[in-house]
Amino acid sequence: MDVLVIGAGVGGLAVARSLLAAGHQVRIYEQAPTMRTGGAGLSIFSNGAAVLHDLGVSLDGVGGRFDRIDALTADGRLRLSSDMAHAATLYGFPNKSISRRLLLERLSEGLPGDLISYGTGCRKVTQDGDRVTATFDDGSMITGDLLIGADGHHSVVRRELWGDLPIRTATFGTWQALSRIDIDLTRAHLHLMITGREGACGIIPAGDGKLQWWFDVRWSPGEPRPVAPLAELRRRFGHWASPVPELLAQASEDDLDFFGHHWQKVRREWGKGRVTLLGDAAHLMPPTLGQGANQTLEDVWVLGRELAKGGDPAQRLRAYERARYPHVNLVSRLARHSPANWRIPPLIGRMFSETSQSGMLARFSNRLTALPH
Ligand SMILES: Cc1cc2nc3c(=O)[nH]c(=O)nc-3n(C[C@H](O)[C@H](O)[C@H](O)COP(=O)(O)OP(=O)(O)OC[C@H]3O[C@@H](n4cnc5c(N)ncnc54)[C@H](O)[C@@H]3O)c2cc1C
Repeated sequence: MDVLVIGAGVGGLAVARSLLAAGHQVRIYEQAPTMRTGGAGLSIFSNGAAVLHDLGVSLDGVGGRFDRIDALTADGRLRLSSDMAHAATLYGFPNKSISRRLLLERLSEGLPGDLISYGTGCRKVTQDGDRVTATFDDGSMITGDLLIGADGHHSVVRRELWGDLPIRTATFGTWQALSRIDIDLTRAHLHLMITGREGACGIIPAGDGKLQWWFDVRWSPGEPRPVAPLAELRRRFGHWASPVPELLAQASEDDLDFFGHHWQKVRREWGKGRVTLLGDAAHLMPPTLGQGANQTLEDVWVLGRELAKGGDPAQRLRAYERARYPHVNLVSRLARHSPANWRIPPLIGRMFSETSQSGMLARFSNRLTALPH
């Protein structure tokens, strides 16, 4: 089939790889003038790593592996420890923090040079019988057999299908960075998640002497941002236990980016006819569980499997949406609230098994549950 993909983010590039490998013709239309290079880092868990492996994308030599997630109180006491090496061994794929730029580069490797039309924002989508037409900002049009809306957060394809569905503000936002910081944790395989009254802080070694780190704070749209955000973070979190003060001492304001978060109820049906959605366009959620991109990769895997079955493409697209719904709906509901609310008392935390994340990851995933074990 001749497949039109709107958006060249994680989802658009990954689905193009999958469909090209299956022998389809694919074209991607991206509104930005070039590939995105910012966006700091992403956690790729065993489920996303498994899909990347299936797509022939290697994460060897990039990013930092984490074998454990320790949730701490602001004064440094252990709330809960999760053995992520257990999940990595069980499923055969490690958990890693990797820069978004490097992930997009690896996803693009080996793709045809003329696959992506940059600076081509989609404005309208129509269907007529077996053909789908996308209209772009400059008035040009293109027609194909299928259209996949991988156009993220403010998806035009979603709006064309369903109108303006309500998007809720998630009450919190994130100051995030990926930067060279030399503390003991930089060389460890440990992901720290620290929560207290002032908000939450996550720190993960991202390889190459870098840390992926972020602070979640209360936020509402329109609220003025601090003029000197790093000074504000130091004021608010500088008294937390090590390694937060050491991290903040070495941090640079140039690395910091702010993201306000949103959440949208996952629909049972994402598309109509020969059009479907994929990634944030279908399931926008805050990064509480670090699953947005992982769930996007899960979409790609299921969509590829469904289309490979052949038959009526519209039916295959609906089967893909039905298969994804229970998993991504669970993730989305859990991810809705700020991590700062997840303040499990240390005593209760000791009652959870260290390996509880392995079972949770399987519940999040179509890909991992398909593995024999
Ligand atoms: C602070 C933060 C931290 C995160 N951390 C993690 C994490 O640790 N792990 C994880 O799994 N996920 C994480 N996420 C979520 C993750 O970034 C998203 O889920 C993921 O990028 C979704 O991929 P996508 O392809 O659907 O959308 P995107 O990556 O947003 O790509 C959409 C693309 O579509 C293009 N586009 C938009 N509109 C149009 C149009 N009209 N026409 C043409 N092109 C268009 C955009 O320019 C963009 O390139 C995080 C998100 C944030 C904000």
